[in-house]
Parts: sequence; structure tokens; C-alpha cells
Amino acid sequence: MRAMEQIDTVVIGAGVVGLAVGRELALTGGEVMVLESENAIGTGTSSRNSEVIHAGIYYPAGSLKARLCVQGKGMLYAYCAERGVAHQRLGKLIVATRPEQVQALDGILAKAAANGVHDLQKLSAAEAKALEPALACEAALLSPSTGVVDSHGLMLALQGDMENAGGLLALVSPVQHMGLRHGTATHPIRVTTQDGTELACKVLVNAAGLNAVALARGMDGLAPNLLAQAFPRAYFAKGSYFTLAGKAPFSRLIYPVPEAAGLGVHLTLDLGGQAKFGPDVQWVDDPADLQVDPRRGEAFYAEVRRYWSDLPDGALQPGYAGMRPKISGPHEAAADFMVQGPADHSVPGLVNLLGIESPGLTSSLALAAHVRSLLT
Ligand SMILES: Cc1cc2nc3c(=O)[nH]c(=O)nc-3n(C[C@H](O)[C@H](O)[C@H](O)COP(=O)(O)OP(=O)(O)OC[C@H]3O[C@@H](n4cnc5c(N)ncnc54)[C@H](O)[C@@H]3O)c2cc1C
Repeated sequence: MRAMEQIDTVVIGAGVVGLAVGRELALTGGEVMVLESENAIGTGTSSRNSEVIHAGIYYPAGSLKARLCVQGKGMLYAYCAERGVAHQRLGKLIVATRPEQVQALDGILAKAAANGVHDLQKLSAAEAKALEPALACEAALLSPSTGVVDSHGLMLALQGDMENAGGLLALVSPVQHMGLRHGTATHPIRVTTQDGTELACKVLVNAAGLNAVALARGMDGLAPNLLAQAFPRAYFAKGSYFTLAGKAPFSRLIYPVPEAAGLGVHLTLDLGGQAKFGPDVQWVDDPADLQVDPRRGEAFYAEVRRYWSDLPDGALQPGYAGMRPKISGPHEAAADFMVQGPADHSVPGLVNLLGIESPGLTSSLALAAHVRSLLT
């Protein structure tokens, strides 16, 4: 890139959210450039997750997570079908493994209904076992609209759409700074990359995932009171997965009734039918800490055997880990997605996407539409 170019719209980050936003804004006819620090798209959280298309069950009614997940799920199934992105509507069972958890299923049913998810079915232990013979449970909920998607295929399709609409992707372009000083009269927001390149833009969407809070907090030229009021603190919660050697015992996704942060050690299947368990929750200081500690697998056996008593000793292998970009701490209630538009910080054209943890993959297309609505 040459020094101090002008471009209408800059999106920081080529994860699934940045690419979905880049596509959305390019399709509306704007001049768009997505800046990505790495040498490929989707190497961050977007390639280190469960690849589940979530139904939208657990999130507080009225939250962005609830609304954009349910909306995004519909958009994602339609998009995958239209663009030939691999996906499967496998269905999921939420299982009560202790008698005292059975009542919790009714609470989940009610939460889902409040979010507009009306297709859950309550199953007795015998009905659940008829669907999944290897399952041990007291009762279960079947979510037929839960599925899995090839997240990389999805990102390639989004990139393709964006580029066909004239959008540009610049890899190996880490953004160092966003600012309001020294922009131009027509393009007042300035973005500086690590090699010193300066870009002046009218619209800036910060979809930098694990770095989004740091970039937002470091922006110059904002009203002095904004920093304290508007920007959350960043926290990081690692999630490790363990893969199952051998054939998967289930054909649907299996989730325990959620009890702590995260959704419990659940079983998901990839599109090849390979089973993995996880992710667990480990609060860490360093977002780059993505090694899987094999010792964490020991705790998985007891968790998994609650719903699959036949899990053989030694069957779990360390898989991979992902990092949740949290904006609430270990002892706080889980925060909603924070999508800050001009109404939040009084900067026309600026949107910060903060705390885009799960269900961000499911919600990506809906998040992109939401970002566009904030900008128009
Ligand atoms: C363990 C785990 C499991 C999950 N499971 C699911 C699931 O099953 N279903 C679901 O819907 N969601 C799931 N999620 C959430 C989902 O993966 C994320 O919400 C989503 O991938 C976020 O996408 P993103 O584009 O915002 O972030 P990222 O994928 O992190 O993309 C951000 C991009 O910005 C780039 N970047 C960072 N800093 C800069 C900079 N300074 N300059 C330029 N580029 C920069 C990064 O390199 C990266 O490519 C899960 C998350 C985790 C951690």
C-alpha cells in the first residue's frame, strides 16, 4: 500500500465477522478494503471453534446474542445452501444426566421460546435413547435446527462475494492504530498499519477479534470521557478440545445442561463425522496461549461419562484450543455482544465489534447486516 491513501471503508480483521461485514458493505456498492494482520484469512478464533450453527437457545431474551443468533442461523442456512458451503443440520440433544437437572430443561425450553426458537422437543430417557442408543440421560431436549458448518468454506465464500463486488483484501497488514487526528476533510478517520502506511477512510469497522478492545481503547481523538465510559476491559477464556480416537458413538451433537461459564463439555461432530469433546473454560492472560495441556483431558472423562458411560480409558487425544474474546470477567455475568456504532461514541462511520464470542460464527451474517444498519 502507498502512504496516506483514501478509501471509503476499512474493515479490520478477516475472520468470519470481518469478511461478512466486508461482503455486506461491498454489496451495497461501497469501496471496501479488509485489512488482515496474518498471511491468510480466518486464522484466529474463526478457525478454532466448534463450527456449530447454534439454534439461539440460551441467551437472555432481547440480547443481541439472542436476536442475531436466531436471525443469523436462518441467514446462514440459506447462504450455505445458495453458495454450496458444506453444512449439516444434524440436530442436538441437551441432556439432563441427574434427576435434579430435569426441571432445568423446562427453563431452557422457556428461554428458547422467548428467543423465538419454538422447535425444541422434550424427550423422555427412552425417547432420547431411541434416537441415540449410546446415550445415558434422565431426559433431554431435541433441537432440530442446530447444525454444523465448514467455517473455512464459509469464509472463502464471503471473501469471494466481497471481491466479486469490488472489495479488496490486504493480508499481512496489521493495524497498529486508529485515530481521528490527521484524517482528511472527506475521509476523517485514520488507520495506521505496522509498516507506517496511513489510510484515511469515511467508515471504519473494527472486527479485530481478540485485539478489538485494545484497538478501540487506543484510538486517538475521541471525547476524553469516552474511554472510561464506553470501552470494556478485555478478558480471555481459552477452550480446549479433545478428539475421540475411533468411531463417533452419536449422530447428533450432545450437550449437558449448562451449569457454569460456557456450555459444558459437549460432543460435537465435524462434517466428516469425527467426534470432539470440549471446549472447557480456562481464564488466561495471554490470548496467544493456544497450546492444549494434555492434563486437562483428565477432567473430561468424568464429564463425558455422565452422558456416555462407555467412553473407553485413553480414548481422548489433545485436539486444539480456541480463545474466547471476553468482555466480562470470570465472576461476572456473561456480557452481550457489544456493537458500538456512532450513537455510542459520536464518531460518524465508526463501528467497534467487541466481545464477539460464541455464537459469533452463527451470527456473522446478521452481525454484518446490523453493522450496515448502524452506518445508514
Ligand atoms: C472455543 C470456541 C468455540 C466456539 N464455538 C462456536 C460455535 O460452535 N458456533 C458459533 O457460532 N460460534 C462459536 N464460537 C465463536 C466464534 O468462533 C467467534 O465469535 C467468531 O469466530 C469471531 O469471528 P471474528 O471475525 O470476530 O474474530 P476472529 O476470527 O478472531 O477474526 C479477527 C481477525 O482479525 C485479525 N486481526 C487481529 N488484530 C488485527 C490487527 N491489529 N490488524 C489487522 N488484523 C487483525 C486476526 O488475525 C483475525 O483474523 C466459538 C469460539 C470459541 C473460542
